[in-house]
Amino acid sequence: MGKKTVKLFLAAILFIGIFQLTAVADVSAKSIGDLQKEKSQVNQKHKEVKSDLDEAKDRLNEIKQKQKNTQSEINKLDEKASNTQSQIDKKIKELEKKESQINTKQSEIDELNAEINTLETKIKELQDEIKQLKEEIKQLKEEIKEQEASIEKREDLLKNRLRSLQKNGGDIQYLEVILGSKNFGDFINRTVAVNKIMEQDNQILETHIQEKIDLENNKQQVEENKTKVEENKVQVEKDKETVTAQRDQVASEKKQLESQKASLAAEKSKLDNLFVKLEDQLGMKDTQMAKLEKQEEEAHNHQMSLSEKEENLRSQKSAFDKLIAQQKEEERKRKEKQNNSNSSSNNSSSNNSGSSNNDSGSPEIEQTTSSSGFIKPAAGYISSGFGHRSCSGCSSYHPGVDIAQGGTVPVKAAASGIVSRSYFSSSYGNVVFVSHIIKGQKYTTVYAHMRNRAVSTGQTVSQGQYLGNMGNTGQSFGQHLHFEIHRGGWNYSKSNAVNPASFGIR
Ligand SMILES: [Zn+2]
Repeated sequence: MGKKTVKLFLAAILFIGIFQLTAVADVSAKSIGDLQKEKSQVNQKHKEVKSDLDEAKDRLNEIKQKQKNTQSEINKLDEKASNTQSQIDKKIKELEKKESQINTKQSEIDELNAEINTLETKIKELQDEIKQLKEEIKQLKEEIKEQEASIEKREDLLKNRLRSLQKNGGDIQYLEVILGSKNFGDFINRTVAVNKIMEQDNQILETHIQEKIDLENNKQQVEENKTKVEENKVQVEKDKETVTAQRDQVASEKKQLESQKASLAAEKSKLDNLFVKLEDQLGMKDTQMAKLEKQEEEAHNHQMSLSEKEENLRSQKSAFDKLIAQQKEEERKRKEKQNNSNSSSNNSSSNNSGSSNNDSGSPEIEQTTSSSGFIKPAAGYISSGFGHRSCSGCSSYHPGVDIAQGGTVPVKAAASGIVSRSYFSSSYGNVVFVSHIIKGQKYTTVYAHMRNRAVSTGQTVSQGQYLGNMGNTGQSFGQHLHFEIHRGGWNYSKSNAVNPASFGIR
């Protein structure tokens, strides 16, 4: 569509250009009929510019529609992105919750493991205790055995003693020993000795027996103790089993939580990717939007310049219409005056058109314009001439001349006419267009980059009338007057521009 517009636009310029060039060929003095013919041509040009303007408007609307669509896409993407973001936030919260649950489970596991360690230590201690008690029992058994052996020995000793006593005296008992005493003293001694031996033997035996009983008691005590410790150990092992089972349960719960966390993380990463994609798309749409905004600005500027041109043509047409009407009116008045003078003088056989003061030309035109053509519109030197000029790396066509001078320099109308436009243009700055009809030829002069404008659109000006001061407004670099003369009127492509030097402006 853009290319097509440009093509049409170029075609329109080319067409108008050719049209203008053929129209320019006939520059001789023209009748009002010719002027009207020209007027219809101007109307035709006006129509063409208007169609370009319509096209520019369509283009602008199209761009605006595209902007609207892009904006709605951006809004949709924005909504999607914000939805995704809130989903991501939700996932992050869920992940945090899982994380804290896992941490809780881990600390439970740690506690249970510590408990298991304590129980294991206890079991080991109990095992050591059992071992020690077994050792003790073994030792006590040995001691009992030793004691039994000692008792047996002692009994044997006693039996032997008794036997030897019996042997010494045949079947003599202790009594016989006593009775065998030689005298009373001996008797006493023997009785005491026998009693002492018997007593001693008995005492030794009783001690041995008592010690054995004590050992057995002790052994029984230790065995009971061992049984208790073994029972305790069994209990502790059972406790350990319970705690281990508990820990395994918690660990499996933790594992479950970790797998949930992993799937949450996977979902989150998917959402993250989606978000990045959406952001990319948004970035692309933003770029597109910026492009469309630039296009809009360009289309708007194009439309503005087209409207400016259209307005110029429209204003110029009405200025020429006014000038033509003025001429008709003046011709009518002149004829009326002639008739009156004819009837009043009554005589004058040499009446009519062939008179010396009037010829086939148009004296009324000379009345409204300067017969000497154009005057230089401002003091100064020609800083840039008419036609092709080259700047560094580019070349352009200069449709007028630049007259430069410092200070306050008044700009004057180059010829009498009607101000067809007085306005501020972004390129021309403060600019005044004056339309003239000189010897039946239409002209429009242009005065650009002025500091100020002293005349307004539709105003009649005489040659040399002050229009404003030379300036540096619009696309201008340094104070100068850009001055154009268009034979046949100003047009869109400026194809009617003629060199002001040919009018003696230099
Ligand atoms: Zn210029």
